[in-house]
Amino acid sequence: MGKMKPGKPQLLIIEDEEPIRQGLADVFVFNGYEVETAADGESGLKKALGGGFHLIILDIMLPGLDGFSICNRIREVDRYLPIIMLTAKTSEEDIIKGLRLGADDYVAKPFSIRQLLARVEAVLRRSGKLHRDMSSFQLGDLLIHPDSLVGTRKGKEIPFTRRELEILLYLSAHPETPVSRQELLREVWGYANVDFIETRTVDIHMAKLRRKIESEPSQPQILVTVRGEGYQLRAGT
Ligand code: CA
Repeated sequence: MGKMKPGKPQLLIIEDEEPIRQGLADVFVFNGYEVETAADGESGLKKALGGGFHLIILDIMLPGLDGFSICNRIREVDRYLPIIMLTAKTSEEDIIKGLRLGADDYVAKPFSIRQLLARVEAVLRRSGKLHRDMSSFQLGDLLIHPDSLVGTRKGKEIPFTRRELEILLYLSAHPETPVSRQELLREVWGYANVDFIETRTVDIHMAKLRRKIESEPSQPQILVTVRGEGYQLRAGT
């Protein structure tokens, strides 16, 4: 992404519904962003792959190429570019599918514009922070290289998403106590108000993480659940 200009964050909004697309563009411009838009999947993907964006807001239901396919194609060439998906349904399958394909977050329609603005800010803040903070670290017999988003174990490479590494980092910074799902949603996901957020989002990520870091994911030894409390990392044991 060498084309980024300093200063205003560059957003790409891929959304076929004209009033939503135009409304979002106006609000983000008003809030200090530089915005480009695309009204269909093909042109959206073309713009996204052209580079230069700090974040992409991606609708799922699009004519031609849908948001899942676009997310997938972007992730083939860029594993870092932050993507927030707009889901028309709050169905668990849509959310899981989006997160699996590497979306950083999702917002369910109808959404509040303030909520979307807050999510965009949180994702941008985290993506900048991650690059600044992270040097490689050891977790059991796994060595994690955050810049390349991979872990290596006995010569084998295991890919991680940015969010997964953020969770591990947060837990490793709190080794003494279990961390609650609400705290993770607040501190790692960046939600200001977690009362209405489904905590299963956290559990979905923990299950994915266990498949990568545990030798026996159903009997976790490293990323453990503390009943009634939350999650704890026991990398030293
Ligand atoms: Ca749509």
